[in-house]
Amino acid sequence: MLKRVIIDVSGIVQGVGFRPFVYTIAKELDLKGFVLNNGHGVHIEIEGTQQKLNLFLTRLQDELPPLAQIDKIKKVLKKPQGDRSFVIQESNQSQKTALISPDMSICDQCLTEFYDPHDKRYHYFATNCTHCGPRYSIIETVPYDRASTSMKFFRMCQACEREYHDPLDRRYHAQPISCYDCGPTLTLYDAKHQKIDSQDLIKKVATLFNQGAIIAVKGLGGFHLMCDGYNYESVTLLRQRKNRPLKPLALLFPTIEAIEENSKVTPFEKVMIQSKEKPIVLVHKKTDTQIASNIAPDIDRIGVMLPYTPLQFLIFEYFKNPLVATSANLSHEPIIRTKDELIKKLGNVVDYILDFNRDIVNAVDDSVLQMIDQRPLFLRLARGFTPKSIPLPFKLNKKILAVGAEQKNTIALAFDDQVILSPHIGDLNSIEAFDYFERTMQTFKQFYDFIPDLIVCDRHPEYATTLWAKKQQIPVLEVQHHHAHILSVILEQQIHGQVLGVAFDGTGYGDDHTIWGGEFLVCGDDTSYERIAYFKPLVLLGGNKAIEEPRRIALAMAFEVMDLDSVKKTKISDWFSSTELNLLHKAYQNKINTIQTSSVGRIFDGVASLLEIVHVLSFEGESGLKMEQYYNEKISNYYNFTINHGIIDYDPMISALLQEDNLIRGVSMFFNTLIEIIVSIAHSQNLPLVLSGGVFQNKVLVSLILKRLGKERIKYYFPQKTSPNDGSISLGQIAYGIRHSRNN
Ligand code: ZN
Ligand code: FE
Repeated sequence: MLKRVIIDVSGIVQGVGFRPFVYTIAKELDLKGFVLNNGHGVHIEIEGTQQKLNLFLTRLQDELPPLAQIDKIKKVLKKPQGDRSFVIQESNQSQKTALISPDMSICDQCLTEFYDPHDKRYHYFATNCTHCGPRYSIIETVPYDRASTSMKFFRMCQACEREYHDPLDRRYHAQPISCYDCGPTLTLYDAKHQKIDSQDLIKKVATLFNQGAIIAVKGLGGFHLMCDGYNYESVTLLRQRKNRPLKPLALLFPTIEAIEENSKVTPFEKVMIQSKEKPIVLVHKKTDTQIASNIAPDIDRIGVMLPYTPLQFLIFEYFKNPLVATSANLSHEPIIRTKDELIKKLGNVVDYILDFNRDIVNAVDDSVLQMIDQRPLFLRLARGFTPKSIPLPFKLNKKILAVGAEQKNTIALAFDDQVILSPHIGDLNSIEAFDYFERTMQTFKQFYDFIPDLIVCDRHPEYATTLWAKKQQIPVLEVQHHHAHILSVILEQQIHGQVLGVAFDGTGYGDDHTIWGGEFLVCGDDTSYERIAYFKPLVLLGGNKAIEEPRRIALAMAFEVMDLDSVKKTKISDWFSSTELNLLHKAYQNKINTIQTSSVGRIFDGVASLLEIVHVLSFEGESGLKMEQYYNEKISNYYNFTINHGIIDYDPMISALLQEDNLIRGVSMFFNTLIEIIVSIAHSQNLPLVLSGGVFQNKVLVSLILKRLGKERIKYYFPQKTSPNDGSISLGQIAYGIRHSRNN
């Protein structure tokens, strides 16, 4: 007996070859009906025998095209209509809720053509198909059609048009489709904006790299600054010109073999490096490599990635060394998208610019992660992973916008039964960065015809995002920063019931107007939480200046355990003049220009300084990253601590570290102490643990904690698909907004 089913599929199902995929299975199973795109996703009406329909549904989920992601499938039975064939029908776009795919690295089939001298797209720098290439970065609005992308300026040639309209071609409706005859072209400029004419542009580029040149190369979501990763002088020049003395630089390698030659890669890291998202993965450096030693000075790890655009593959046809590939931007500003802006801002940094005339509409950085065994720990969620959709198990009656934090900003939108997380926007410390924040906001509002009923922001009164939220004449909710950290994991993993949130962080505004960041929060199923324990507050001497200078934290720590005269007899006296010590002690005693903080991030800084690892930071997270290499797992001791009325007192650690002359013992015991503190509080609460906050970007700390919690049989949740850092604050804010709306 024939049956007819209506199937509605939502998720990333448009612009990813989903309809041809449905069409092919239906044809193979001799089923009748039609498929079309609508505002919610893909709509299928299909009829045949029950057995074949079952088979169809199984294959629909098992054989998904590479870029597709099914969030939900809704099925309804209907009377058979007696269709004679299966067809792809034209779109009927009503409401805009279909999801937009992230940009994806070139696929194997496109790459095969790219290497085939007989193919029409041999060595073509902008080849792509329905399963790969630019998406989010070129989209202006939805529905996702060529006319709503930056490819609208290129008229398809007849051959491309044929592929574009053939449902069985792998470029069917590939919006950025193009070839040598009709697509974008490459141009090389020098820093004075003069076009360089060359018969073989990429050969010329390779020669320039060999000569030590710094070249800005246009990528998917912005420009990279590139130079030879084996050339110490080039890297030095790049660092000098960019005024970036120490911050590690990522490397783009031609092949996985080249990565393995230069670094120790675990099988799980290898899988991630080769994944279709092609993120930057932090791996352990080998000691005897050709990599310039100033790529990541004093750090035992490097960020590596594989090429993901055909242009990058093309460069590696002629240049064989790894390339430094760092985002082209001024510090505190977003990644640069256009040649003109590049010349204006980084004209004195680069020697040449390799540009092409397909515009980048939405900037997006490379994603960065590290592996904890087989678990990814995201440091930056951007290209390949975002925009990200998280399905909700219920339907919302409100549209909620979350504006995120001030650092590592992202925004998030919630409507219907889903949450959408934007790519990493960055630190909002400049007008340019804030413009980028507002532009991203506009982009997402336009994508989804989104006007929020409710905005959620951080409780910090001076965050630019908070001020923005309050100007919108839409109801606003404020969420405590660390509560949002914990809620982001609760939302990501759909956790129910009470949990013990452990938020180890750099900075976040506390309910008592001090800076928090070492918090144990019991979170209810509603919008409430209770701060049951926190680290004994430290004094930031000179306020924010102490965040840049760990030696000031070390000094404040010392003042907690001894008087000025005794401090003058310790190693600290070498780091300050006697006048400075006297002044800072007065400031400490009288609380002049000081801020109180319970931040574990600052404790890391203080400990790194006490152990003479770093006294003045040159990039964020430096102390934790540098400490990792000194941890020795054979050392199991830890420092004594007490917990009184919820205040974690670690004075014995400070006293010990002031005397410590063994770096390895000091670092190891410090990490062990943090673990003991977490375990002891976890046992006292007997609740599942939820861990988040920027300090949990530390690989050693996280591996130790997860191992230990497993051993202690303490149930825990740790971010899986999102980051523990402030990039997830917007998600946590959404979770708060949802909880609030459901109770009001
Ligand atoms: Zn492809
Ligand atoms: Fe934070």
